[in-house]
Amino acid sequence: MTTISQAVSCMDDYDPNALPVATAQQIVGQLVEPVIGTERIFVRNALGRVLAADVISPIDVPAHNNSAMDGYGVRAADLAAGSATALQVIGTAYAGRPYQGDIAPGQAVRIMTGAVLPPSVDTVVIQEVSRMEGDTLFVPPAQRPGQNTRRAGEDLQAGKAALPAGRRLGPADIGLIASLGLAEVTVRRRVRVAFFSTGDELVSLGDKPTEGQIYDSNRYTIHAMLSQFGVEIIDMGVVRDDPASLESAFREAIEQADAIITSGGVSVGEADFIKQLMDQLGDVLFWKIAMKPGRPFAFGRIHSGDQSAFLFGLPGNPVAVMVTFYEFVRDALHRMAGVDPVPPVPLLPAKCISSLKKNPGRTEFQRGVLFREAGEWQVRITGAQGSGILRSMSDANCFIVLGPERGSVKPGDMVDVQLMQGLA
Ligand code: AMP
Ligand code: MG
Repeated sequence: MTTISQAVSCMDDYDPNALPVATAQQIVGQLVEPVIGTERIFVRNALGRVLAADVISPIDVPAHNNSAMDGYGVRAADLAAGSATALQVIGTAYAGRPYQGDIAPGQAVRIMTGAVLPPSVDTVVIQEVSRMEGDTLFVPPAQRPGQNTRRAGEDLQAGKAALPAGRRLGPADIGLIASLGLAEVTVRRRVRVAFFSTGDELVSLGDKPTEGQIYDSNRYTIHAMLSQFGVEIIDMGVVRDDPASLESAFREAIEQADAIITSGGVSVGEADFIKQLMDQLGDVLFWKIAMKPGRPFAFGRIHSGDQSAFLFGLPGNPVAVMVTFYEFVRDALHRMAGVDPVPPVPLLPAKCISSLKKNPGRTEFQRGVLFREAGEWQVRITGAQGSGILRSMSDANCFIVLGPERGSVKPGDMVDVQLMQGLA
């Protein structure tokens, strides 16, 4: 097995001290692996779960030739080309209550949407263009043979894959599985994620901060972001910055989890023990990513006995935590969950009405509010953008993403935005 350090050592231009966002995403994406292990669950409980195998349709969908509209079922061969045709209506076919029997030449049935076509009916004439006199139907000319009908198996054939392995199931997928008559599906087990905060300045909610101490907010943010991913969450609290506590926290996390997320302690010049320990426990890369906020980031795989877990060492600053989570951990969690392909986060164009200062060379994620005015999508920034200022995140509904080549932005310039809603 190639180690993580081996994998990056053969990359061109690998510079851990100025790593482009896209390269960091690529490395993380290539190295994380889906969890092994599946379970059978009821379809009703499968929202957000990831298919471990293709869902094979046991039936044709639709199961029968049926009508797509309310109208009259006819034989195309009976219809005259240039004039109206008179036919005798001999009965009605309802959805769920087929017409028993068949039509002979010169006959038609009244037919409802979803009703099974009698064997000789191949065309449906909608009721809006039909005219009835007693039990005689007049069909106008120029009907198209086969119109307004759905053929058995036209959506899906029995034995074919209705949904592919790797699909994270949404409401439409759940409905589709139910439409095949399947009550259970095979999904991958949930990814287990352990996380803790590090830093002697942190106190948990409920404790009183002494001078110089602050409340640990990152753990709550991370818990909230993880909750939107449908992973199993293992909250390990605040861990003191001493080697013994940190080592036992890491070992406990490795034994229970597939991925470990920490915040704080990965920046340059940190006196903290956390980097040393990460290094000791496995194969960890320490990066300075060419981005703002969120420069320091650690990624790797750490071991305890014969167990291992992927490690994501996020920066300590609260905004940087969120940005690095969305840019790097998000994709990794999808991959670990077995999602394939991982859906990209859309970048949408909008007109920026603020002026933004920026130097080329790194990617910036400024917090913005996207709104629609005068028929176009516009975006403004949310006040002070310091990486510790959570209010700028809380007031925002999008990131304004300024790529590495981009310089300052003048009001009226177009920018790319990433919506936070649905960032999961
Ligand atoms: P660090 O990366 O450990 O140097 O932390 C950078 C900044 O983030 C410092 O101001 C820390 O106090 C702050 N910080 C670190 N961890 C947390 C946390 N869990 N909650 C809130 N702020 C934090
Ligand atoms: Mg720290």
